[in-house]
Amino acid sequence: MNSTRSPEKVHPGIALALLTSLRDQDTPDEAIEDEAFAHSLPRRLGLNDVINVQMHRYADLKEAGRSLALSEFLDLVRLISRRPDAVEIFRRAGAALAAERFADTGALRRAVRRLSTEKARRRKLRRSMTRAARALTPGAGIETDREPPGMVIADCSLAPVGIEGNACEILTAVLDTCVAELWDPDRSARHVECVGRGDARCAWHVVARADAGGAAAERPEAGALAAG
Ligand SMILES: [Zn+2]
Repeated sequence: MNSTRSPEKVHPGIALALLTSLRDQDTPDEAIEDEAFAHSLPRRLGLNDVINVQMHRYADLKEAGRSLALSEFLDLVRLISRRPDAVEIFRRAGAALAAERFADTGALRRAVRRLSTEKARRRKLRRSMTRAARALTPGAGIETDREPPGMVIADCSLAPVGIEGNACEILTAVLDTCVAELWDPDRSARHVECVGRGDARCAWHVVARADAGGAAAERPEAGALAAG
């Protein structure tokens, strides 16, 4: 492949989705009017003017049909990955990206999909997973598995810039949405091997949603709080 021929590029919409997620994370609910909390707001990265300026820049690039250097996107990812709430920010960005670019959401698409065969839906899923991986980690060696659907990336760009693989959550969330939308709402994507956690490669399997080990399963108290 000619992946080293020129510096890799990403779509500015990807960086924009990440900063939008960061800003949303740092924007308090209207219900929160605690004075001490309000006092801390200016220091919150997502509400910083610098972030607003960057968001405008990415929106302009997007509008003009131009691309963004992968290295600049990865610098953003590296910065956010240091935050304790990084996984939340990455996952929200990934879900938004999937809905916008990779998962063909919308009532009409869904209706058409319901009429297509299992085989056709799996093929569509594999194509979308590959497209998402190419967009988020351009130039990497990407392989998809047919049965069950899965994906392996030998040199994922996201893994080394995150902390213990947390940056891969952007892609995991994209794949997750693709699996649920394009193939089966009762399944999800699990990031089973990660270079960022010491594995030799990054790999994703499609698993039953109940087995995915989501945030609620890892933090039972969160479920209890939500219920109360
Ligand atoms: Zn990974």
